Amino acid sequence: MTVEFRGLRRAFGRTVALDGLDLTVQQGELMALLGPSGCGKTTALRCVAGFEHPDAGAVLVDGKDITRVPANRRDAGMVFQSYSLFPNLNARDNVAFGLQVRKVPTARRHARAAELLELVGLPAHAQRYPHELSGGQQQRVALARALALEPRVLLLDEPLSALDAKVRITLREEIRRLQLELGITTIFVTHDQEEALSVADRVAVLRAGRLEQCGPPAEVYDRPATPFVAEFVGTMNHVPGHLSGQEVTVLGRLMPVDGPLPSASDVDVLVRPEAVLVTPSSEGDATIVASSFRGSVARLRVRLGELEILSDVPGHDAVRLAPGTRVDVALVQRPVLVAARTAPAPTL
Ligand code: ATP
Repeated sequence: MTVEFRGLRRAFGRTVALDGLDLTVQQGELMALLGPSGCGKTTALRCVAGFEHPDAGAVLVDGKDITRVPANRRDAGMVFQSYSLFPNLNARDNVAFGLQVRKVPTARRHARAAELLELVGLPAHAQRYPHELSGGQQQRVALARALALEPRVLLLDEPLSALDAKVRITLREEIRRLQLELGITTIFVTHDQEEALSVADRVAVLRAGRLEQCGPPAEVYDRPATPFVAEFVGTMNHVPGHLSGQEVTVLGRLMPVDGPLPSASDVDVLVRPEAVLVTPSSEGDATIVASSFRGSVARLRVRLGELEILSDVPGHDAVRLAPGTRVDVALVQRPVLVAARTAPAPTL
C-alpha cells in the first residue's frame, strides 16, 4: 500500500518535531527516513503506526485519510530499536502473540510462528526465551512478530542500532531480502547514512521536521539538493572556487557544473573524497599530513596552503602516499554541488 504524509505537523511544547512533512512512500517500496537526531523521524513513523497524532496535516494510506484511525485498527507491523520482546514468552509465543490476541487456534498459531521463524532464519529457536538469544536473533524474532499479522506496511525504527557492526550488515541485507520477497511497503528509520543508502529504494533526508530531499540512494549521494544533504550523506570537502556561467574554476582546473547554481561568483565547491586525485610529485604544492588505512581504501588528509582536503585512494596506494609526501591534487569527478560561500575563503 502507499503511505502519504501530507503537511504533517507535530509539536511537543516548544519543540517542533514535524514541521509540515510531505512525502509519499509507494507500494512495495523501502523508504529510508534519514536525518540527524531530533529531526522527527521517529515521530513521523509513530504517526503511521497511530501511536502519535499530528497537530495538523494527515497520513493517507492508499489515498484514504487514516489520521484518526486508532492504532489497533491500522495495518502496520513495527520493530523498535530496543528488542522489546516479552521476556516471559519464548520466541514462538512472542511471534504468535498478535495471533493469540486475535484468538487464532493454538495449532494454527504455532504453525504460523514456525513458518515465520523459518523466514527470519531461526527455525530451531522456537523454544528459546529472549535472554537465551543474541541481540541479532532477538531482532529477527521481533521482525517475525511484526510480520505475523501480515501487515501491509512495515515500520522499522532504528532496528539495527543496538547491534554490532557485522550483525548489523547481515541483518540489514536480510531485511531487504525479506522485504523484496514479501513486496511489503516499508519505512526504515535510521540516522546511519550508509545503512540508508545500502538498504533503501529511496532515501528521504529530513531536517528539522521537514523533507530536505528524497530520491534513490545514488541520486541523494551524487546529486544532493542542498549542502545539508551533501554533508549528511557521506563525507564532503569544501573547496573555494570561482563560478562563471556553467563552469567553475577549482583547484586550478575548469570543471563543468549543472543543477541549481548560486548567483555569486565566489563559491563553495563540494567534492567527495573519492573525487580528489592525489599524485606524488616533488614539485607538488600540497603535502599529505595524515593517512588512515581502512582496508580497501585509505583516507588521506592533504594540506594545500591553508586548505585541508580529504582524498580516498585505493588501500594499496597508502604506502607510497605516506604522510610528508609532496603531491599534486586534482579533481577527477564533477563537483556534487556548488553553493554560495558561507565563510571567507582560505587563501590558497
Ligand atoms: P532520534 O534519532 O534521536 O530518535 P528522531 O529524528 O527520531 O531522533 P524524534 O524522536 O521524532 O526525532 O523527535 C523529534 C523532536 O521531538 C526531538 O526534539 C524530541 O526531543 C521531541 N519529542 C519527540 N517525542 C516527544 C515527546 N513525547 N515529548 C516531548 N518531546 C518529544
